[in-house]
Amino acid sequence: MPGYAGEAFPRPSVKNLPAMKRTVRQAAPTTPRRVRPAATAAAAAGTPPSPILTQSVAEVLGLRPRVCALLERLGIITVHDLLRHFPHRYEDLRGAIPIAQLRSAPHGEEVNVMGEIVRCEHLRLRGPVRAKTTAVLRDGSGEMQAVWFGRPYVASHVHPGLQVFVRGRLNFTLAGASMNVTRYRIVKPGESYRGDLLPVYPQTAGLTSYDLGRLIRTALRYVAQAPDRASLELLPAPLRRQEGFIEAWQALQWIHHPATPEQASRARRRLVFEEFFLLAIEASRRRARRSRQAAPDFSILRTPQVAQACEETLKRALPFVLTRAQQRVIEEIREDLCRPSPMNRLLQGDVGSGKTAVAAAAIVMAAAAGYQSAFMAPTEVLAAQQCARLLGMLGPAGLRGALLVGSLRRSTRDAILRQLRAGDLDLVVGTHAILTEDVGFARLGLAVIDEQHRFGVMQRAALRMKSGPTMPHTLIMTATPIPRTLAQTIYADLDVSLIDELPPGRRPVKTYVRDETAKPKVLAFVRQHAEQGHQAFVICPAIDESERALHSAVEQARVLRETAFAGLPVGLLHGRMTGRQKDEVMKLFAAGYTKILIATTVVEVGVDVPNASIMLVLDAHRFGLAQLHQLRGRVGRSTQQSYCILIAPGGDEVERLRVMARTNDGFVIAEEDLRLRGSGDLAGTRQHGGPQFRLAHLVRDFPVFVRAKRVAEQVIARDPDLRLPEHETLARYLAARDPAAAFVISS
Ligand code: ADP
Ligand code: MG
Repeated sequence: MPGYAGEAFPRPSVKNLPAMKRTVRQAAPTTPRRVRPAATAAAAAGTPPSPILTQSVAEVLGLRPRVCALLERLGIITVHDLLRHFPHRYEDLRGAIPIAQLRSAPHGEEVNVMGEIVRCEHLRLRGPVRAKTTAVLRDGSGEMQAVWFGRPYVASHVHPGLQVFVRGRLNFTLAGASMNVTRYRIVKPGESYRGDLLPVYPQTAGLTSYDLGRLIRTALRYVAQAPDRASLELLPAPLRRQEGFIEAWQALQWIHHPATPEQASRARRRLVFEEFFLLAIEASRRRARRSRQAAPDFSILRTPQVAQACEETLKRALPFVLTRAQQRVIEEIREDLCRPSPMNRLLQGDVGSGKTAVAAAAIVMAAAAGYQSAFMAPTEVLAAQQCARLLGMLGPAGLRGALLVGSLRRSTRDAILRQLRAGDLDLVVGTHAILTEDVGFARLGLAVIDEQHRFGVMQRAALRMKSGPTMPHTLIMTATPIPRTLAQTIYADLDVSLIDELPPGRRPVKTYVRDETAKPKVLAFVRQHAEQGHQAFVICPAIDESERALHSAVEQARVLRETAFAGLPVGLLHGRMTGRQKDEVMKLFAAGYTKILIATTVVEVGVDVPNASIMLVLDAHRFGLAQLHQLRGRVGRSTQQSYCILIAPGGDEVERLRVMARTNDGFVIAEEDLRLRGSGDLAGTRQHGGPQFRLAHLVRDFPVFVRAKRVAEQVIARDPDLRLPEHETLARYLAARDPAAAFVISS
């Protein structure tokens, strides 16, 4: 590997390095740690597991548990994962500028200089800086000063007479040019160092970019000698030739240590394609597998009498007339249910668009076909709310249902479980725990998952267990606005329905973006409304003062109760309160007693208090646009005029939020959000284990995605079970990630 700048560009963490080295050397094969269960699945499928792909990086490189825990936080478990922790940028350490030319460089500019150390001085300081090294550098053209702050170890590296390459920010003092050094490298006598591109990695607390660079270099060295290095190549050779891609091993070396920007971009081109391709392959395979599965038989819904009976039941149950969008979506669902393979449909509809009524329609159809339904919400509070609404509508129509949550009394719970197993209940509403606990159904035919856009493979497997040999029809509902094209392409095994119309009579929420100076006026506006009997949310980004620069809920509640909102009933709600405390606060607010609720984003999803008409968000710049849109969805739930007021410090922050004032359309906002943030955190999927891209950017790289998807579909069409020799490593890789897939391969 060419001279690697990071090696001799020590950063403060250098003190940890001997320790890290030691742990690398202690690579004694200890008990395997967190080997993915799939490794055995792959073995069962007749292919030996590849350590690069399946074994934990801890085991392969002999890392300490502390380091592994930190790596896991970055999603790195295998060597393969570690090599796919890509730099998000490079620092260009190529090309030193002659010192004489620095005079024309602007103050604060980052520059590279190479020179000989003429003199140097090391100081120990009191206070946080601790140490300062000042050196005078000379090259053929002139002299300058280089300064290292807070790095006592530099004293033992830097001596007069050495050639040194430094990078840092320029200052101009009376004494001439001076540089605050951020990187440096001692150039050995006779070495022709011309600088290179230094990778900068996404870091985590406790692991700096520098530490990661070291680990990645160790991993690259390991792989260079690994007998199973070929398993890194996941793209079939014909495909690689056809698309003009370099090989995986080359790409990994180049992305981490490019000699030129061209190398980095060639590597990136291939690796971005690969990320999309893997996702698309998995989706195509899931779809292919699903179409081979049997579904509960709902074909009786094709009978005109039954279809009509369902319609009438629904009409009588709902206290309103369905919108055209709702009717269209219900029809799409009916078509799905009549097919022999299980429905897998994502229903998107903005907050308040009436998704629950659509779910009710599906539940009615399931009951008409003689099947039970399970309705799952993300929290117990929402489950209770939805259960009351669904049974309020469907109970009078003759459907029998119950709420199943953890807080039930034992005897009640047992009775419900018995009824479910006996087939005496048509509907059970609860949290996702319904899937994991020993809840048995007589004839589960339909699963509805509310407020979730990603439903894990594991949960799907659990669902399958619940309904015997068949896979129940699944309806996933979300308000998280994922632009439709993205939804269809990412969740390629999901069909997407869209409610693009709000129930009549709603008034759009009026949104204002204001800077900090307007806060007193805004608070007075909120007070005035509260005095007239309206209710308001005040959202803060932090719970308490641990993040000092921000408005915190606890602090604001204390201050505002004494000042702007003195004499008004003010509630406080945040995530660190117990379930019971939260319930209590929510009940008072829902009942209309509390006029103003000061809260963190715990109220983001699902909370339904129609009388609330003001949403005030402090430090709004701290939230993503999609999140602000969700928060705004808490108001405007009745026919009264509602307001959303976003306060940010000013300038750029205010500008970024303007799109909120321009549109109430969740899709437009999501596109904008995606454009600003990239797709790595698409609609919060990062927390939910959804698709994540380490390198790819869904908006910028969208054409690559479309191409990768088309190619993946061709591959699966030609070789559905990936049995061709050219697909061998790909099949092994997928098996290692998804035990269910291994099952399919071997069966
Ligand atoms: P979502 O879950 O999509 O956010 P909900 O299903 O909770 O929305 O419905 C929001 C509100 O709109 C509820 O109070 C519901 O009763 C009402 N609603 C739903 N559909 C209609 C309709 N077609 N006409 C009038 N009101 C409706
Ligand atoms: Mg809802």
